[in-house]
Amino acid sequence: MSMPFIDLAAQQRRIRDKIDAAIAKVLDSGAYVMGPQVREFEAKLAEFGQAKLALSCANGTDAIALPLMAWNIGPGDAVFCPSFTFAATPEVVPWVGATPVFVDVLPDTYNLDPAKLEAAIAGVKAEGKLTPKVVIAVDLFGQPADYPAIKAICDREGLKLIADSAQGFGCTLNGQHPLHWADVATTSFFPAKPLGCYGDGGAVLTNDATLWDLMDSYRVHGKAVGPDLAGKTFDHDPKYLNTRIGMNSRLDTIQAAILIEKLAIFAEEIALRQVVADRYAQGLKGAVISTPAVIKGGVSVWAQYVIEHRDRDGLAAHLKAQGIPTAVYYPVPMHVQAPYAAFPRGAGGLPVTEAKAETVLALPMHPYLGEADQQKIIDAIQALGA
Ligand SMILES: *Cc1c(COP(=O)(O)O)cnc(C)c1O
Repeated sequence: MSMPFIDLAAQQRRIRDKIDAAIAKVLDSGAYVMGPQVREFEAKLAEFGQAKLALSCANGTDAIALPLMAWNIGPGDAVFCPSFTFAATPEVVPWVGATPVFVDVLPDTYNLDPAKLEAAIAGVKAEGKLTPKVVIAVDLFGQPADYPAIKAICDREGLKLIADSAQGFGCTLNGQHPLHWADVATTSFFPAKPLGCYGDGGAVLTNDATLWDLMDSYRVHGKAVGPDLAGKTFDHDPKYLNTRIGMNSRLDTIQAAILIEKLAIFAEEIALRQVVADRYAQGLKGAVISTPAVIKGGVSVWAQYVIEHRDRDGLAAHLKAQGIPTAVYYPVPMHVQAPYAAFPRGAGGLPVTEAKAETVLALPMHPYLGEADQQKIIDAIQALGA
């Protein structure tokens, strides 16, 4: 018998009645696109993330692209981001014609290294070819980046800050969500993320109402929004007035309805994930190079529980033989992937990123991982030894 890596079925069993009812309501209403559940969910999501506003969209990748578009980031602009992340983080930068600059991560939290960020910005300025504009910090594996340090650098250098919280939505640092420091926080509702729907979805959280309006325009083909219409009269329906080149990136009403039910139990699920993480930390002592370190004052939502082992592939095979699934995030850092290899890197390269790609291994992690299954995983790892 093999166990699931992420058990979405256990969660579904808990709230299946509510989800069925929520979906049925959307089917009955006929409001499949931008139905009332979309705005209801956006309001609830904003409240959860300590934001004034949330804008839902089609996925967590578009969620990073939308603020770049709204800020007119483009050719000649440098966007600093980690390479030790999912492809979506750097991918959106060339979409708008700008250049990603890869920055190394800290060896304990795997999140953006503020000192390396400073060096990368200085390098770009010294070279004089690109203009530093934006930093994308990633809340990798569910824990907040070092926002106080990163925000101080952004303020000093006049840079916008995006918190890519696709894995970390719900995480906090000193009781604050990433948006406390960032201009926007983005997230993904891909099913396997801590807060996932049953398909694709994403959102951008912000406290800036003007930015929200602009992103609302970009998510619907550059439609005219409030400020575009102010003081004007029209002899046609302004619904078909397009004031910028946008895209089609809406969250389906059905997914919003599902997410309303999932968000209702999300705080409890974060607490359950912490219980699982604590049991791993206790049980794995001495059997691995390291169990995850969380930044001081931070609360992780444990999107992944990532350990390091000297014989990572041997351990993965040993666990697989016992029906225990694992995954490697990320085996090939973005800066060495062919389409990204020519983009600039911060001074000193990315030695930490490259080393971590060889040793990291993600273990089964979800709120419903029972004690017996977890003990089986711990015993199997202990049996192999460090
Ligand atoms: C999943 C993920 C995204 C993108 O989300 P999608 O909804 O799959 O487009 C962006 N950044 C990170 C770090 C992610 O893990």
